[in-house]
Amino acid sequence: MRSSPGWDPRHLAPGHPDATKAAVQTSSTLSPDSFAVPGFDAVVRLVSRSLHVPLVALVLNGGNAYWFAHGSALPPHEPRMLHPLYLEAARSLDPQVVLDTLHDPRLQGSALTPGTTQDPVRFFASEPVCTLTGQQIGALCVMGMTPRTELSESEQSALRDAASLIGAGVVLRSYLGRTDPITQLPHRYAFFDDLRRHLHDEAPHAWVIAIDLAPVQRFNAFIRAMGHAYADELMRAVAQRALAWLPPDTRLYQVGASRFAAVLPDRHVEADTTRLDDLVSRLRQPFDCLGIPLTIQPGVGLLKINQSELRGGDPLRLVMNASHEAQHSVRGWAVYDRKQDELHRQQFFLVTELAAALTDRTELDLHYQPRVDLESGRCVALEALARWQHPTLGQVPPSHFVALAERAGLMRSLTQWVLERGVAQLAAWRRDGHDIKLSVNVSSTDLDADLVGRLREVAEHHKVGLDSLELEFTESTLMEHSATTRRHLTAIRQLGTGIAIDDFGTGYSNLAALRQMPATSLKIDQSFVRGMGTNHHDEAIVRSVAQLARNLGFRVVVEGVETHHLYDSVLGMACDEAQGFHISRPMPSFDIPPWLAAHRGMPRRADALSTPL
Ligand code: C2E
Ligand code: MG
Ligand code: MG
Repeated sequence: MRSSPGWDPRHLAPGHPDATKAAVQTSSTLSPDSFAVPGFDAVVRLVSRSLHVPLVALVLNGGNAYWFAHGSALPPHEPRMLHPLYLEAARSLDPQVVLDTLHDPRLQGSALTPGTTQDPVRFFASEPVCTLTGQQIGALCVMGMTPRTELSESEQSALRDAASLIGAGVVLRSYLGRTDPITQLPHRYAFFDDLRRHLHDEAPHAWVIAIDLAPVQRFNAFIRAMGHAYADELMRAVAQRALAWLPPDTRLYQVGASRFAAVLPDRHVEADTTRLDDLVSRLRQPFDCLGIPLTIQPGVGLLKINQSELRGGDPLRLVMNASHEAQHSVRGWAVYDRKQDELHRQQFFLVTELAAALTDRTELDLHYQPRVDLESGRCVALEALARWQHPTLGQVPPSHFVALAERAGLMRSLTQWVLERGVAQLAAWRRDGHDIKLSVNVSSTDLDADLVGRLREVAEHHKVGLDSLELEFTESTLMEHSATTRRHLTAIRQLGTGIAIDDFGTGYSNLAALRQMPATSLKIDQSFVRGMGTNHHDEAIVRSVAQLARNLGFRVVVEGVETHHLYDSVLGMACDEAQGFHISRPMPSFDIPPWLAAHRGMPRRADALSTPL
């Protein structure tokens, strides 16, 4: 029974400055007609009786509200205006109590009722409604027509109990009714049911569309910075925009923490791809999230699927591949690509295999490539190069798995393994009388405060001088100007360990940066060296870079010396060492001692007919 037909506290007083802000847009999907929480009506009746209030409302923080007068539900309204006080209550973790609305500054000039003929609401109290996991979904509000002098302890606790019963009911409903408690959208299982039904009853195939808000790490960082309330608000706002774009009567599903999906009629996608551009551009517009403007990095993925593909398949996994790809593209949307997917799967497989190989270590090995001193023709150092022999894939090239280790956070373990294995081997060779050094490739992720400790430990353990080691960093790592990088590099230098700039010429160092690099040697990239035979420019580059580097005090190493001819050329340049297939390919450890024994030295500079430097 409604108490007074013309009376409706749901409306905002006309002319209230916050009228537009508090406007609640309802849509059939976001606001179901009735709030079917198990036992909800009974809880409302109890509250109404124990607090002696005629009016009760459940206001969700998205703006939907469900109203009861004297314990009976009021019929839902058209898109309506809510007084800002309701929204404030629905978004506040604190209970709100207004004993007399006439004395509350928030209600000055805007009564909780627009009716001039009826009594306004004079008493208002609310209690936040949270799910069992602590996410706030709204507030339970009670209202009376007479002001009060207090809200008693027992009344407050009755309101609190009622709010927590409703919170538990919402969670229960989301399990039973397959809806997300925050956005009120149907979730993943409902999506699968509907997709199956669609393909069975309506069409031989369908398009599945997925909308990702942002890359997962970015979304998590956003939650860490702003909190769940903002994330929830953002999800609701994105859902509203997606719904406004979708064809009428198309359901939107929430299929992940930051992902939506829908099933589109066939013609909708194929006919007009500019519609997809339109969706992306709508999603890229800033969102007003509880007063804070936010932009997202949306990815829209599409997948065409038929009934047979659905059997045993996972359309959401496939379409996620496309939406993930799209997040990093300019266009912002992408259609599922089987080849790309295969590549991702392979990479994932390789990462898990590499992690296993790093634990087991029987598949990994080190090969060593000699570096020859051009003055003496003698091998003075060996570069350790990692090898991975996978049981089914065969040899995986280091260019491939090193990059993978970098991306998958496995670099530290790889470097640790290389250091331990390489230094143990070096110690054995040095004990056998070979006066050689070892150079080890390290990546930028290795360059932290620990590296010095790790180097010390491994050298002490194998009783090898730290000055018989050299670390090869790529040019871009050394180019980083941060004070921390510089500090770590200086600490390594202080150990007596050498630092080489690897693959020099492939990065973008300028001369000023080069002058400041705390490196001891510079390795000219093999791409220039290999081109020397055929390209005069390359020859000029190698010659002048070598001269410049030496003038700056670096020891110059030339990589990629593949032929006799190239070796002769570098003998005539300002280079100190050469490395390449002409001298030797990288070899397994057991081949090194015989090679060193058989190797009587490469031609020396003094033997060459080149002009003296
Ligand atoms: P890099 O450090 O520049 O190593 C030299 C690469 O050039 C090696 O390839 C070597 O086999 C190859 N090479 C040497 N001389 C010649 C030549 O005359 N001609 C040609 N065409 N190639 C030559 P590899 O072993 O395939 O390694 C490739 C890259 O992978 C290395 O380049 C290095 O950046 C990385 N890498 C290898 N092992 C490790 C490791 O243990 N840790 C890290 N962080 N990176 C590694
Ligand atoms: Mg190297
Ligand atoms: Mg190199």
